[in-house]
Amino acid sequence: MRLVLLGAPGSGKGTQATRLKDALGVPHISTGDLLRAAVAAGTPLGVQAKIVMDRGELVSDDIVLGMLEERLTAGDTGNGFILDGYPRNSTQTGALDELLARLGQPVDIAVLLDVDPELLISRLAGRAQAEGRSDDSPETVRKRLNVYTEQTAPVIDFYEAAGKLARIDGVGSMDEITARVLAAIAGLSTSG
Ligand code: AMP
Repeated sequence: MRLVLLGAPGSGKGTQATRLKDALGVPHISTGDLLRAAVAAGTPLGVQAKIVMDRGELVSDDIVLGMLEERLTAGDTGNGFILDGYPRNSTQTGALDELLARLGQPVDIAVLLDVDPELLISRLAGRAQAEGRSDDSPETVRKRLNVYTEQTAPVIDFYEAAGKLARIDGVGSMDEITARVLAAIAGLSTSG
């Protein structure tokens, strides 16, 4: 199962990806996690990325695509993957489509976790306190939500046009939302 998980910051993508990875037996690949690992390791790429991430902006498409390609060819994606945080704009959507075609691993389903923006702001404020993420300050949160709305809309349109989009109500208990996603995946195999 090759799944792309879409949703605004705070929509619960990370939480659901962790649960879905266990349910589906495929790795969870988060470009945010890959970037945070580079930041923590203090690599030149990480030092450069941290400045952009702390502003709530997107790291350059080339850097993220390079990291992603390396991760997708690590040898553990034979049964698929859950991609979280990528693609985030039209350029990345096209790049991913090409990369996966080249690898012979096209996306099966793009799942959008739909959550009301007001709820996102309060969720992210809570996460800032709990996790101390430096990009969860109120100002950065607003910026990240704006970036999401402006740049990710074409990504959603792309998967919708390809007939691969499943919109999931992202409000509810963690179990309910996981069940909704698994039902959408099950529907995929029965509808061919
Ligand atoms: P996330 O954990 O997915 O919310 O990502 C945290 C931050 O990492 C984002 O605000 C961006 O600065 C950066 N980032 C993650 N994924 C991408 C991506 N696909 N393209 C560009 N920047 C990204």
